[in-house]
Amino acid sequence: MDDIAVLSVGDELLFGEIDNTNASWIAERLFDNGCQVNEIITVPDKVDVIASKVERLLSEYKNIIITGGLGPTQDDITRDGVARATGQELIYRPELADNIKSFFNEIGKEVTENNYRQAYLPADAEPILNEEGTAPGFYLVAEGSNIFVLPGVPVEMKRMIDNFVLDRVCQPRQKNSYDLTLRVAGIGEAALEDRIKDIINRSEGIAFRFLPHGGEISIKLSLRPGFDPDNFAKVVAEIKEELGYYIYGEGDKSLAGVVSDLLRENNFSLALAESCTGGLIAKRLTDIPGASDFFKGGVIVYSNASKVRLLGLAEEILEKEGAVSRLAADQMATGVKELFDADFGVSVTGIAGPGGGTDEKPVGLVYSTICSNSCEFQERWSFSGDRKKVRWYASQYILNKLRL
Ligand code: ATP
Ligand code: MG
Repeated sequence: MDDIAVLSVGDELLFGEIDNTNASWIAERLFDNGCQVNEIITVPDKVDVIASKVERLLSEYKNIIITGGLGPTQDDITRDGVARATGQELIYRPELADNIKSFFNEIGKEVTENNYRQAYLPADAEPILNEEGTAPGFYLVAEGSNIFVLPGVPVEMKRMIDNFVLDRVCQPRQKNSYDLTLRVAGIGEAALEDRIKDIINRSEGIAFRFLPHGGEISIKLSLRPGFDPDNFAKVVAEIKEELGYYIYGEGDKSLAGVVSDLLRENNFSLALAESCTGGLIAKRLTDIPGASDFFKGGVIVYSNASKVRLLGLAEEILEKEGAVSRLAADQMATGVKELFDADFGVSVTGIAGPGGGTDEKPVGLVYSTICSNSCEFQERWSFSGDRKKVRWYASQYILNKLRL
């Protein structure tokens, strides 16, 4: 019998209206805790389909994790499907109805009759407390397998996985301290592998995974059971030595988080002049709590006129070089540093596309300058991809420059 299956319920998943991020989040969370999902399937909001899939999974898996369709409306029929598959009746639980009533009282809303649908659970089920919403999850054992039924709303589901499911599914906790994620930016996947392939080849008992995402790469290392932990530490040290400054952090650290820490630790302030990124760099930095310690502010100078008016960009530069040019980037960075009286002024100007490119200045061309005591033009990057990708990569490359 295999270990774990995930069953996602919802027409919207099959219509392509939303991505099944619940299943991928669960798979990653469980994997990080030393156990592995073996199958993921998605079914529509239909009782008979849910019931027949649950029956099949019961015969094949020790643990079945179901998400979605636990709400109060007519299309929320996961409860009915699970009850049918396990041959149980749905029984009204007065204590759950009380919880639902008090949840609504607290937020000052009326309970409607259909909310009480959520107070019905299969006879043998144990409710799982919902700390984020009204629909309780539930847990039951059928044919010797565990069934966990969780709401579709991601924050509610995640809480229940962490507080209830993990310990029951990944028991005994196999997670050890010999798992590590190294976060790398500024180097491509192929070049990265090339640099550390010799280390990998002689690292017996260590599993490596490379996960490229959004202009950076996570290297996940884990020690297989029975192998030498000292060797793990040695291999990590070798990789760190080889990759040097390409490694920007470990674990959950984000690039924006590392830049924030550096600015804060050194008591430096920052101001941004963003054109093609439209505030994305500012957003990423201010996503980190406490950004006011170092972030003085920014301007989104999208039109040429505002580049001139707010940042003192010379009309002559606009005429001769254009707004997407090295000289414009330099003046924008100087201008914003002065405007905010900041230690660092950073500019970004480019062509995000899809229109606006020429042979000389194609879509994806981005210039950036960083000014502190003096100004240093960073680079003329040529990113490929659509608008979203060009903007993201520009923000990514500039943040990476800021930490160096
Ligand atoms: P509700 O009380 O909101 O009806 P529910 O448990 O019935 O909760 P669903 O109706 O299936 O859950 O989904 C509610 C919302 O949660 C969806 O509109 C969707 O935004 C999100 N959601 C559901 N399933 C998934 C999934 N597999 N991945 C990501 N998001 C999901
Ligand atoms: Mg619903």
